[in-house]
Amino acid sequence: MEMLDIISKVHDESRQGEAFVPFKDDVNEYQKKFYIESYGCQMNFSDSEIVASILNNEGFGATRNYEEADLVLLNTCSIREKAEQTVRKRLTEFRKIKDAKPGMLIGVLGCMAERLKSKFLEEEKLVDMVVGPDAYRSLPGLIEEAETGQKAVNVLLSREETYADISPVRLDSNGVTAFISIMRGCNNMCSFCVVPFTRGRERSRDAYSIVAEAQDLFNKGFREVTLLGQNVDSYYWIDETKNEIVTFAKLLEKVALVHPDLRIRFSTSHPKDITEEVLRTIAKYENICKYIHLPVQSGSTRVLQLMNRTYTREWYIAKVNQVKNIIPECGISSDIIAGFCTETEEDHHDTLSIMQHSKYDMSYMFIYSERPGTLAARRYKDDVPEEIKKRRLQEIVALQGKLSFESNQRDIGKSFKVLIEGDSKRSSDDWMGRNTQNKVIVFSKGNRDLKKGDYAWVKVNDCTQATLLGEII
Ligand code: SAM
Ligand code: SF4
Repeated sequence: MEMLDIISKVHDESRQGEAFVPFKDDVNEYQKKFYIESYGCQMNFSDSEIVASILNNEGFGATRNYEEADLVLLNTCSIREKAEQTVRKRLTEFRKIKDAKPGMLIGVLGCMAERLKSKFLEEEKLVDMVVGPDAYRSLPGLIEEAETGQKAVNVLLSREETYADISPVRLDSNGVTAFISIMRGCNNMCSFCVVPFTRGRERSRDAYSIVAEAQDLFNKGFREVTLLGQNVDSYYWIDETKNEIVTFAKLLEKVALVHPDLRIRFSTSHPKDITEEVLRTIAKYENICKYIHLPVQSGSTRVLQLMNRTYTREWYIAKVNQVKNIIPECGISSDIIAGFCTETEEDHHDTLSIMQHSKYDMSYMFIYSERPGTLAARRYKDDVPEEIKKRRLQEIVALQGKLSFESNQRDIGKSFKVLIEGDSKRSSDDWMGRNTQNKVIVFSKGNRDLKKGDYAWVKVNDCTQATLLGEII
């Protein structure tokens, strides 16, 4: 495997290409089956649950085995070239099955569908449907069209669609943690990023439907929700019945009030938009997790300017200081891009030093990948040689490894309230859970009568770079 496959984490690398298992507790027999695989960010995984809900209403049951599926869907990602190559490779694997099972339909959903539109059908002949992220409601009609042998495409972006009324089918869930999508699209124009083109304009979902979804999840036994959006801090919704503006801070509070035992997380914050009010709301409620994903991208003001991130190095450092002042125990993580256009050794060192200042507990680290149509692709030359990009990424990854280990070592001797998510990967004698800072803690079950979804107080005795090890107190 190429080194970068191991070290440059694409959001949750372990989930890339994950197929959904059939709905939990679903006893229905289905005539037609669908198979869906998801790539990219959490938003795509969350969207696949909306797609599953729409298909379920059409009489489709989920299968984990694509060979028995009537409908095979890939929910795709365009964020870097490699993400697109993975999908193309996967499509070639479906060719054989399609040859053997002519009635089977193959659909491409998500960002790659939106980026390539009908070009996808020319490039990948076996694809029957191309459906963009705002067009999932039209899936039933598109399937019907494709069943007649025509190719079906809907890549219209919307200014309103939030799928607020569609209750996602929780597939492959641990029954404890779930995502709630609170907004769609992005109005920021970071020069490297394809998201504003593939996911359209930003729009916020009805706050009542978000709170109702959180309440419903809590009633079903879930104990943690992650509020999802490309830029959650610009959440903005007007409650016309009360003439009230719901900001992200207000929304956090509303969800926190669902129940003190329901933990709230959120992702992602843009450093320029996270407000003091949000930080104070996090500090005020015990069940809003003390953890912020605050992507820096680069530590050099000059590069940040080219990236159109709208903050400087100094401004970001002040923001991190503010977070730590208001929420002293707050965990912070980041996204970092190595080798953006014109990046010099000095710029790279600025990135390393801002990582050290911020003491990130964790980071997602990427090599810059030029995306067609973005501002950077149009304006700047992708001029850092691949070898230099790789070496810089390696240095960033090595530093992050050291910072993560040091951060974990600082936790030895401390006790944390841990939400149990399930058995640890290594042994069914141990539980795995997370503390409020989002750190994974593994501890022996002992003879306590605990179960998934319970909280336990755990004292940390030891650690690795990625995991805290402890015992129940
Ligand atoms: N909206 C979020 C934000 O602004 O932090 C996340 C967007 S994106 C799905 C996740 C991360 O991918 C970004 O924070 C950035 O580090 C990385 N990314 C986006 N475009 C990239 C590109 N062209 N090359 C390499 N990394 C990229
Ligand atoms: Fe992309 Fe920037 Fe929007 Fe994040 S905030 S999705 S990086 S344009």
